[in-house]
Amino acid sequence: MRAMVLDRPKTPLQLREVPKPKPGRGQLLVRVSTCAVCRTDLHVVDGELPQPKLPLIPGHQIVGRVEEIGEEDPQFAIRNSQFAVGDRVGIPWLGWTDGVCPYCRSSRENLCDRARFTGYTIDGGYADFALADARYCFYLPNRYDDLEVAPLLCAGLIGYRSYRKTGDARRLGIYGFGNAAYLITQLALYEGRELFVFTRSGDKATQQAAKELGAAWAGGSDEMPPEKLDAAIVFASVGPLVPAALSALAKGGAVVCGGIHMTDIPSFPYADLWEERVITSVANLTRRDGDEFFEIAPRVPIRTLTEPFPLEEANTALDRFRAGRLQGTAVLMVNPAANS
Ligand SMILES: [Zn+2]
Ligand SMILES: [Zn+2]
Repeated sequence: MRAMVLDRPKTPLQLREVPKPKPGRGQLLVRVSTCAVCRTDLHVVDGELPQPKLPLIPGHQIVGRVEEIGEEDPQFAIRNSQFAVGDRVGIPWLGWTDGVCPYCRSSRENLCDRARFTGYTIDGGYADFALADARYCFYLPNRYDDLEVAPLLCAGLIGYRSYRKTGDARRLGIYGFGNAAYLITQLALYEGRELFVFTRSGDKATQQAAKELGAAWAGGSDEMPPEKLDAAIVFASVGPLVPAALSALAKGGAVVCGGIHMTDIPSFPYADLWEERVITSVANLTRRDGDEFFEIAPRVPIRTLTEPFPLEEANTALDRFRAGRLQGTAVLMVNPAANS
């Protein structure tokens, strides 16, 4: 099968013929239709995340169809028998957990001590086929085709988990208006939140786009919003945005950091944190996040903005992402289904 392979961080992916994998116990072999490119893929390729599997097939927003089903795994009371050959499934970032550590046993499988991650510590979807643990595959809402639905699998899910961590915040700030922010803004507006969007200073085009989507206010991240915020989500991987967001919070407010990687956070006066303000982060996702998000996304309905690329042009997609030159989420069209 064709695969785009990372041999070493900070080098381009190599197009290669590799053996088609065989599904083991509890696994599905999935013929990949589309795979959306996530900022985390850039962090992996650029060597900003420690110890990736090498060589590695990146990609963790995978949409495909079940090609083959492995044996049941009695250890996990596995759910692979619930899938049939030909079913459309989504494969997300969280690819495997042990099910037995203190985190797994307290509904926090996203923090599992031994978790494995698709396209990082196990091979992902920049290839004709991908293996997946059936426990972590999702059925996807029928309203979306394979191209449209792909960005929901990480930008959507991690965005959703970040958003839920803001509780019932009425005035919500969003720092960094990329893929996740675009999706979650739609959900937040649907739920009646007042949105304040912060972009790079002077990025009038993005500010205008946020206002057109329904934001009450949009400005530069060096500006203060007209009113104090009940919560803010920082999606950009820029550490100085954390104290900036903190200083825009009302008492008791929270800053939620939605990314896996961020530059260092500069020091700030304790007075900015005092009065029960909170800084927290989001790591990975749980299956429950996925079930909830795929239930609500088509009701909003959350729309995705995508820019398709052939599998062979994954490096171009990554380069344009890095340079901020994409019009939407890059999606690799690996074996697009006829009806998508
Ligand atoms: Zn665990
Ligand atoms: Zn991701």
